[in-house]
Amino acid sequence: MPGTIPYDPENIFSKILKGQIPCHAIYEDEHTLAFMDIMPQAEGHALVIPKTPSRNLLDADPTTFMWLMPTVQKIARAAKKAFHADGVKIVQYNETAAGQTVFHLHVHVIPIKDGVPLKPHGGKMEDGGKLAHNAEMIREALKFVS
Ligand code: AMP
Repeated sequence: MPGTIPYDPENIFSKILKGQIPCHAIYEDEHTLAFMDIMPQAEGHALVIPKTPSRNLLDADPTTFMWLMPTVQKIARAAKKAFHADGVKIVQYNETAAGQTVFHLHVHVIPIKDGVPLKPHGGKMEDGGKLAHNAEMIREALKFVS
């Protein structure tokens, strides 16, 4: 797209897709991958990414969303169930001005409990064991949601 910054294949989510760095994976299909956010804003905070490279929503091919959103819905349903959440917040940032820090399109899936405030975006790194446990909880809940 004219005027957009080119996609950088060295971004961290591209490296996760290439298997160059690890992640706490929850779900994968032909077009998408879901894994735990390492600095969760709430218990069970997950990310969903398309395998097709794009920097964010602004430069993505519209067909990307055809595959991305069903996975977002699936993970939202499973995370809500796994963490007995009252709601699920879906967030997606575009460019630095909007708060984007990793430049491969991704959607945040954040289980929300009544009265529990969200931690800051990009705050504290979560313990690896805890992330592995939470990933397992969502994977288990996925067996019971469509
Ligand atoms: P943003 O680009 O601001 O929408 O957010 C990027 C998100 O990616 C932040 O919530 C980070 O905590 C998260 N993050 C950064 N590096 C990793 C990683 N290696 N694995 C999982 N999540 C990550």
